[in-house]
Amino acid sequence: MHGLKERYQKQLDRVKNVAEAPKGKVTLLAVSKTKPATDIAALYAQGQRDFGENYLQEALFKQKALAHFDIDWHFIGPIQSNKTKEIARRFAWVHSVDRLKIAKRLNEQRPEFLRPLNVCVQVNIDEEDSKSGFTEAELDQAIEQLKTYDQLHLRGLMIIPKVRKELAMQRAVFKKAAQLKERLNKSHHLEMDTLSMGMSSDLELAIEEGATIVRIGTAIFGERDKNKIK
Ligand SMILES: *Cc1c(COP(=O)(O)O)cnc(C)c1O
Repeated sequence: MHGLKERYQKQLDRVKNVAEAPKGKVTLLAVSKTKPATDIAALYAQGQRDFGENYLQEALFKQKALAHFDIDWHFIGPIQSNKTKEIARRFAWVHSVDRLKIAKRLNEQRPEFLRPLNVCVQVNIDEEDSKSGFTEAELDQAIEQLKTYDQLHLRGLMIIPKVRKELAMQRAVFKKAAQLKERLNKSHHLEMDTLSMGMSSDLELAIEEGATIVRIGTAIFGERDKNKIK
């Protein structure tokens, strides 16, 4: 845990110091996968409320340990169908909705006594075979379907672009995502307000182009133990 608070403050400062930040606030999502509940509690004491997890079983374990904390849990990992029930119950946000089948299940399984689940559609912005998410061509049809799901609140788009060596190219892909969100809002009469994009190497660029949630893991919590990554 050594240096955790300092690393966290440093990332918060980076977010705060982006002059072109969009109106409203940019959320620093602390990605706590593989890290212990004690680390989460330490950041909670610093005021952090949004935490991102990738693996359901691990997340449920930490949620139990931190049950009395007022945390907004974000699910950001790949989703298997048999995990949707717990995800629909235990999270405030899901960033990684990458198939309609998953969205349908999350909608059906979100309990009615909870507010609609905040969801981002994952977009395979670079059309990589290795990455999940909707391609741009699939999005319009998908969005029309998503709009019919009352227990999902469609908040925006999430991307994991490939890393570009040149900053200008990295900026261009963030801009592309922002323009895509605007176009979809217009075409589908939506008010999506969220762009989940930008990680530790490029969060300033992402915010300058309109990111509203930046997902930061290692730069806050330190390197992950590779053995713990499933
Ligand atoms: C792990 C992860 C992050 C954080 O990555 P770091 O390199 O640790 O900052 C962000 N987004 C997603 C989708 C992740 O799985």
